[in-house]
Amino acid sequence: MHYITIQGKGRMVLKNTTLVIITFFTPGHIRRAVNPDRLRGISAPLSVLSFIRYQFLMAGPRFSIATCLLCLIFFITLMFPLAEKSNAAVTIQDEKKIGKELYDKLKKNNFLIEDDRITEYVTRIGNILLKQGRSSPFDFTFSVVKSSGINAFATPGGYVYVYAGLIKVAEDECQLAGVLAHEIAHVKARHIAKIIEKSKKISLATAAAILAGAFIGGDAAAAVSSFSMAAASTLQLKYSRKHEEEADTFGMGYLVAAGYDGQAMPEFLSIMRRYDYYSSAVPSYFLTHPGTNERLTYLDQLLHTKYTERGERCIVGSFDRIKTLLVLTEKNNILSNIRLFEDVISSNPHDVDALYGLAVLQNRVGESDKSITTFQKALTITPDDADILKDLGITYFHRGKTKRAIETLRHAYAIGTYDCDTLYYLGRSFEARKNYDAALSVYKILHTEYPDHTDVLYNMAMCYGKMNHTGESHYYFGRFFHKKGKRKSALFHYRAARSALPQNSQQAQDLETHIDTLTKAEKDKKRTDSQKYLIN
Ligand SMILES: [Zn+2]
Repeated sequence: MHYITIQGKGRMVLKNTTLVIITFFTPGHIRRAVNPDRLRGISAPLSVLSFIRYQFLMAGPRFSIATCLLCLIFFITLMFPLAEKSNAAVTIQDEKKIGKELYDKLKKNNFLIEDDRITEYVTRIGNILLKQGRSSPFDFTFSVVKSSGINAFATPGGYVYVYAGLIKVAEDECQLAGVLAHEIAHVKARHIAKIIEKSKKISLATAAAILAGAFIGGDAAAAVSSFSMAAASTLQLKYSRKHEEEADTFGMGYLVAAGYDGQAMPEFLSIMRRYDYYSSAVPSYFLTHPGTNERLTYLDQLLHTKYTERGERCIVGSFDRIKTLLVLTEKNNILSNIRLFEDVISSNPHDVDALYGLAVLQNRVGESDKSITTFQKALTITPDDADILKDLGITYFHRGKTKRAIETLRHAYAIGTYDCDTLYYLGRSFEARKNYDAALSVYKILHTEYPDHTDVLYNMAMCYGKMNHTGESHYYFGRFFHKKGKRKSALFHYRAARSALPQNSQQAQDLETHIDTLTKAEKDKKRTDSQKYLIN
């Protein structure tokens, strides 16, 4: 449904292309109604428009009823195409759909960094900011885009993205928090939904592709849809200066209420502008977020009037580690990144993050002895660093030094900040040393805490096999193949497990359910296949 309403004593409503109500009009109302701003975008011959405006201005109260009607007809004729083209209200559900469509496509096409430590870090800062200010109907998702560009954006539905390049040039956590706060404010104020509603060119169907084109560039837009790239590039989507002011005002509110230093916002805007000047990255943050000078001015005013107290520069911590992890996500540039870390270490030999980064990269280029030495050097500075302990432990495992691997990975587990790799390689080290009981107890913890970890099921099956527990071994092989989607192999092992396991065991009861599910799926598949055969 599309409505156009003209305010006045009289009221005119156009519903689709049907004139529903026309009531009493006076020349004054029409004069107010025929405002050039309302006609923006309508391709009326300028001479006609100028003529009518001239008539209104000159005739005043003597403006004749006939001219008035003539103009009314002209006005209605002009409004018809607008009524057809303008978008209906974008609902919360629409926003969620657009946001999810873009997020799913970006994830599927490998545009986003998958390292949990990085996304969890950004999410933690985001969640601290989300606790401030007005609530939102959206569940927020924070992601890092694999790109050296210095950019950040948010899409409808609560999806906030920062580029890896932006985090790399930020000087501390607080500056990153300032960017996230600004983007969160855009989402909460539903700015993009408002842009789509007003737009005559962006539809709900094309919104995700246009957002991808505006915020990430042509490659992402091409991945998101078959929407013509030539068309996408002509449909520039950017916030208005009013949107920017709102996002800064609310964003600064969230940032300061969370306990961060508001000063970080104008500070980082200046840094971004400086980098943007030298950068050839497309698209630029400033293309979609306009009015930098005005933004700097009113951010400064806010800091001098409303937010005069200085807050914290760091709340979550480990900002430098996240920067190191971002360097490690780069598959190319390994040699130049090794030099980068070496340079940092030569000026500060105690820089643990640089030592850690260097050790990981040395391992990656096959220099595992050097890598172990560098890891050990880093551990003399921070003995309880879970990242370093984990990666050193894994390096020991791959070098066959399983005893040292167990010591190191146990240490990582004991300090409580371990991940699934810590447990997996600890289990594998025990397994390699034929200590199957210990391996299984570690694998069971891993399986409980990380139920999506599929490979551990295979290792559990192998351990039970070595211990001659045939029933359990078949059970876990069944679970492994089931998760991998290999139905026939899974059914074979489940059936073998059923005949070997005691009937009253929990596993035997689970087996019945799994076998039923798989048998049904097999039958359905056979039925579909034979139907296909009959149709063909
Ligand atoms: Zn903005």
